[in-house]
Amino acid sequence: MNVTSGDFAFIPLGGTGEIGLNLNVYRYDGALLAIDCGIGFGGAEHPEVEVMVPDPAWLAERRDRLAGLVITHAHEDHIGAVAALWRQLRCPVYGSPFVVAVLRRKLAEAGLLNEVKLHTIPLGGRFQVESFDLQFIRVTHSVPEAQSLVIRTRYGTVLHTGDWKLDPDPLIGEPADEAAFAKLGEEGVLAMICDSTNVMVEGHSGSEGEVRRSLTALLRQLKGRIAVTCFATNLARVESIAVAAQAAGRRVALFGRSLRNAEAAARECGYLTEAPEFVPEEEAAFVPDNELVIICTGSQGEPRSAMAKIAADTHPSIALGEGDTIIFSSRMIPGNERAILKMQDDLSRRGARIMTADDHMVHVSGHPARDELKRLYSLVKPKYAVPVHGEWRHLTEHAALARSLGATPVLVEDGDVLSLAPGKPDIVESVPVGKLAIDGDRLLPMEGGLLAARKRMLFNGVVIASLAVDQGGKVLGQPQLSAPGLFENGDNEPAQIAVDLGRAVGDLPVIVRREDDMLREAVRGILRKSVGKKLRKRPSVEVHLLRV
Ligand SMILES: [Zn+2]
Ligand SMILES: [Zn+2]
Repeated sequence: MNVTSGDFAFIPLGGTGEIGLNLNVYRYDGALLAIDCGIGFGGAEHPEVEVMVPDPAWLAERRDRLAGLVITHAHEDHIGAVAALWRQLRCPVYGSPFVVAVLRRKLAEAGLLNEVKLHTIPLGGRFQVESFDLQFIRVTHSVPEAQSLVIRTRYGTVLHTGDWKLDPDPLIGEPADEAAFAKLGEEGVLAMICDSTNVMVEGHSGSEGEVRRSLTALLRQLKGRIAVTCFATNLARVESIAVAAQAAGRRVALFGRSLRNAEAAARECGYLTEAPEFVPEEEAAFVPDNELVIICTGSQGEPRSAMAKIAADTHPSIALGEGDTIIFSSRMIPGNERAILKMQDDLSRRGARIMTADDHMVHVSGHPARDELKRLYSLVKPKYAVPVHGEWRHLTEHAALARSLGATPVLVEDGDVLSLAPGKPDIVESVPVGKLAIDGDRLLPMEGGLLAARKRMLFNGVVIASLAVDQGGKVLGQPQLSAPGLFENGDNEPAQIAVDLGRAVGDLPVIVRREDDMLREAVRGILRKSVGKKLRKRPSVEVHLLRV
């Protein structure tokens, strides 16, 4: 069977078998539809990289068949790579009003606003993207306007849940549209492609309403300055902090660019109506300590965030320390633990008190725990279950749960082409996938030579030597050597190595000294040996050879 001519297939290119970097593709009789396009963090596994995006090469090669990109919600792991990858995809983009408001700001920053065709779809709207018959269903999550996507085809219906939970009191927006899920279940669902993040968590994920009540009680008891960090797009949380602050007789300032961007997008969409007017950042320092709450970016330890600057005591407009309280109203995204704990440590050393979700009710997850998963399966009653949005231990646990709830699980990972119909679901081929690092304005392959070299330099350092020789290979003047990151400034060791190098080159056979490549290689060998002996390291060695 020629699988591309007539079938309905799910092709995860990012986010299945890993955390973050969500990029999903559906293929319907040859036409392609992408869902979400997000970033991931380098974390401890890739210290040479801060932000990564999924490699879209396979999709980009087929972009003449790509009907569009639908965004389920405005989280970075679903929306953050659109600007970086759009030039390769060049397709229209669809999302809710808040998704479009957030995306518009990101595209404007990237100079792409006038190039991208953005389509705003009303909440719960049904719409057509070429041959794809689509419908959003409202869910709750830790960002407003999160939605699941229904894809109806002549082979059957798929529910792509996106990130969701069943919050009875989401504070912003309505609870999830369970009636729409029930109706879909009656209609018949071939497969549900579903969030696996919290499948290990028993019970219910809790509610934003509980967090608001708890923060309100907590802030009333505290003295000194209070800083709270949370995800910028968690508007219910931002509003809860603001409402709790007001109830405690405090004014609120927003610190950090992503919070200000989220606030602008929120006001544009009619959210944050309960929050009082925010104090401008520059004026926060003039508010008395007991009358101030700062809401900060940096809950994930991001190095340039407001909280990172406060922790390092380099923030231009505020300092926190003895007598102040810092609340982490967030969870740690896997991979960011070290950066976050280091930040918390720096803040405690300054004398500030740290509160987290481990010791206070200051956060609930945006993803479904087991009771919520059970509820959704009972409403939708999918024939097949495809766990996504998680690492393998989440996917396998989710598969076991789905089986116990009457669905047949199918496990896939990034790069698998899962043909859902006709016939039984089956992985029919695999396509190339990978990650790219965002490096300034460039996208670099993670497996490529550049980043591998940078990682080597990060751990082993780099030695750069320059030397001039005449046609016969006689060293002219004194070779120069620098080794940033290996020797202190002012250390005379590099100069000594350079002197030894000049002598060692003089001892090389004439045939080696006459030929540029051979001489360069020999110099490299000499330096590796001499530096290796002194430092017990194998640095990268660069040689600049000038033949005069
Ligand atoms: Zn997500
Ligand atoms: Zn999300």
